[in-house]
Amino acid sequence: MATDDPIHVIGGGLAGSEAAWQIAARGLGVVMHEMRPGRKTEAHQTDGFAELVCSNSFRSDDHMENAVGLLHEEMRRASSLIMAAADRHKLPAGGALAVDRVGFSELVTERLAAHPLVSVERSEIAGPPPPAWSSVIIATGPLTSPALARAIQDLTGESELAFFDAIAPIVHRASIDFDIAWFQSRYDKAGPGGTGADYLNCPLEQARYERFIDALIRAEKTEFRDWETSTPYFEGCLPIEIMAERGPETLRHGPMKPVGLTNAHKPHEKPYAVVQLRQDNALATLWNMVGFQTKLRYAEQTRIFRMIPGLERAEFARLGGLHRNTFLNSPRLLDRQLRLASEPRLRFAGQITGVEGYVESAAMGLLAGRLAAAERLGERLEVPPATTALGALVNHITGGHIAGDDDGRERSFQPMNVNFGLFPDITAPKTARDGRRLKGKERTRARRRAITARALGDLERWLAAPAKDMAE
Ligand SMILES: Cc1cc2nc3c(=O)[nH]c(=O)nc-3n(C[C@H](O)[C@H](O)[C@H](O)COP(=O)(O)OP(=O)(O)OC[C@H]3O[C@@H](n4cnc5c(N)ncnc54)[C@H](O)[C@@H]3O)c2cc1C
Repeated sequence: MATDDPIHVIGGGLAGSEAAWQIAARGLGVVMHEMRPGRKTEAHQTDGFAELVCSNSFRSDDHMENAVGLLHEEMRRASSLIMAAADRHKLPAGGALAVDRVGFSELVTERLAAHPLVSVERSEIAGPPPPAWSSVIIATGPLTSPALARAIQDLTGESELAFFDAIAPIVHRASIDFDIAWFQSRYDKAGPGGTGADYLNCPLEQARYERFIDALIRAEKTEFRDWETSTPYFEGCLPIEIMAERGPETLRHGPMKPVGLTNAHKPHEKPYAVVQLRQDNALATLWNMVGFQTKLRYAEQTRIFRMIPGLERAEFARLGGLHRNTFLNSPRLLDRQLRLASEPRLRFAGQITGVEGYVESAAMGLLAGRLAAAERLGERLEVPPATTALGALVNHITGGHIAGDDDGRERSFQPMNVNFGLFPDITAPKTARDGRRLKGKERTRARRRAITARALGDLERWLAAPAKDMAE
């Protein structure tokens, strides 16, 4: 590959802008293709790059005790354009990094437009990227235009590109009460790769179940946007509150059915209903509530799901939701370099890879840009280790997800924000400096600090590592 052949970045959002910047910073030419303003998405309002389509918050900026704060810091250290623009246009917001969305997007647009190695083409890519483009990054986001989405489906297979996410809440295992919950697969079926005890089960007796159904029906819900109602997913994976509205028994015959399960703590009491949780990451630190996709408001989800026995003190790595979202079945399709395994000239970046959020999308742009640039320069660049926030996200989208299901349901990969459940565990200090034993919140904080310190040390080593020749 000639180094004067430009790398093409499709999409001038959070990920595409960051990717283009990283490529140009390595002295390589880049062509950005952005369809706005000629063609709009359902959510973008301007023709600026890196437009924030909803909230103006990059969430917590605490890099010592918060996973997204750590990701901010890693990106700053990796010379991120998105983070530089956010820091320049930050607004007072306590511990969060909130930005002036207009100033932020204008700065990103100006910096890219002024860069001598970046050229911008304002047109939709409405089919497969032309064969002459030897290196391409597709960063067209959750609202990828239909024509390009169809072309991606042709490349990947129809079922490998989703058009909405139906997300069930995900719980930190450490917050589950094991005096109540027990491990068992329905009918003890081992299934492919299972042991027969692969699910965590939380039992409800009749009165508790009825209170739970009542709470679901009365709860505050989020509204569907116009274009969300026209997305053809609704019957396929109904939100639990809609199932509850269809009748008090619906959930007990659906995701909460108690059949084939015996309460290990009270073998003689038959549960009236059971909530099952399934392992969600290879580290087994995160467990998702099977079939619990929902449009309830976040505060309502926390309140109502903590009514479930065993989950009274549940901490949620993410809450449930249903959104319009275009994303790949990345664990099956992408290699560790974020390339389409079947056509490696094509890389993906941003929300379409199965991360969730402004910062996470930009982070995947940063990596895709660096990986594409290294490849073009004939260098071998590995992704950062899984102990870093950047590496933990790559692990989630390319490998960390568990495949298979022993309950007859199709297992599906769902997008995720960065969170501490994605990091390998660490032996955290058990005592304070004065020798006092750490308990509860203090212990959690000590563990988080140990994870973030390890991450930044490992990131520094990754950034400082000399480039290796591809032939080496
Ligand atoms: C309605 C909505 C609200 C959201 N709210 C939040 C929030 O509050 N906080 C948060 O952290 N995350 C939010 N997200 C999720 C996500 O973080 C953002 O969507 C984020 O912008 C994703 O970054 P991206 O770079 O992957 O895609 P985008 O930023 O959407 O960029 C994709 C770009 O590609 C362009 N494009 C699409 N198709 C083509 C084509 N065929 N040819 C050329 N250009 C094309 C688009 O015009 C767009 O500029 C929201 C998502 C949606 C859909």
